[in-house]
Amino acid sequence: MRTPPTVYSQMLPAHAHRRKRLLPDKLTHYSMGLFVLFFGTRRTYDDIAHHTIWMGPRYKDLLADIFDRKILADDFSLYLHRPTATDSSFAPSGYDSFYVLCPVPNLRGAIDWKTTGPLLQDRIVAALADTIMPNLDAVITDAFYMTPEDFKTDYRSMHGAGFSIAPIFAQSAWFRFHNRDPHIKNLYFAAAGAHPGAGMPGVLCSAKVVEKLVAEDDAKAML
Ligand SMILES: Cc1cc2nc3c(=O)[nH]c(=O)nc-3n(C[C@H](O)[C@H](O)[C@H](O)COP(=O)(O)OP(=O)(O)OC[C@H]3O[C@@H](n4cnc5c(N)ncnc54)[C@H](O)[C@@H]3O)c2cc1C
Repeated sequence: MRTPPTVYSQMLPAHAHRRKRLLPDKLTHYSMGLFVLFFGTRRTYDDIAHHTIWMGPRYKDLLADIFDRKILADDFSLYLHRPTATDSSFAPSGYDSFYVLCPVPNLRGAIDWKTTGPLLQDRIVAALADTIMPNLDAVITDAFYMTPEDFKTDYRSMHGAGFSIAPIFAQSAWFRFHNRDPHIKNLYFAAAGAHPGAGMPGVLCSAKVVEKLVAEDDAKAML
């Protein structure tokens, strides 16, 4: 589960909240949201590598739009993923397969994703077509996207954050949500929002920690 805050605030019975280990939500910093557009193409783009970072014109100001002002800017930076570059089974012969990830404000912003989603898709496709993927608008197929609303609904991620609570100092290492709740028996977290942190290696490490803690607790219960 990406965010232990969702578990504490939405999934536990009210009496458990009294002993919860949870900062007030307004003091918690969350990662940005993600707009992720998945698509195929009716041709291959052999020059595109497995990983591409596509930089927009701004850096710090774009981050301020995303994290502070929480508005959708006119420009963006993108991460473009082409798994077919290393594994051809990701698309039928002669086709290609991609996703493109665009950092956007999480749901603490007031973006209406129902109307914004299709427009942002068009803008991203146009930007890629104008630069590294010529003619993309004519060959794109089977496109669909996820917005922060989907991260909230499908992954129960608080505020639709893409990577759970932000990895700032006061929310990292010991300060991140602990893998074992200190008060609620049998509540363990293996998740992006828990120690040691987001990303697959972090989440897998947190699963290893939980495995150890459960075994420890089991052993104590046997005594
Ligand atoms: C587009 C994208 C690309 C990424 N690329 C990388 C990468 O290259 N490298 C990397 O290290 N990390 C990457 N990440 C981050 C990584 O995917 C996450 O950090 C990781 O998946 C978080 O794991 P999690 O178990 O905390 O949450 P999730 O993967 O969100 O898993 C939570 C699961 O719980 C399920 N669930 C929700 N509510 C309930 C319920 N009530 N009952 C039962 N199940 C429920 C959800 O359906 C979901 O399957 C990427 C993320 C995205 C979105």
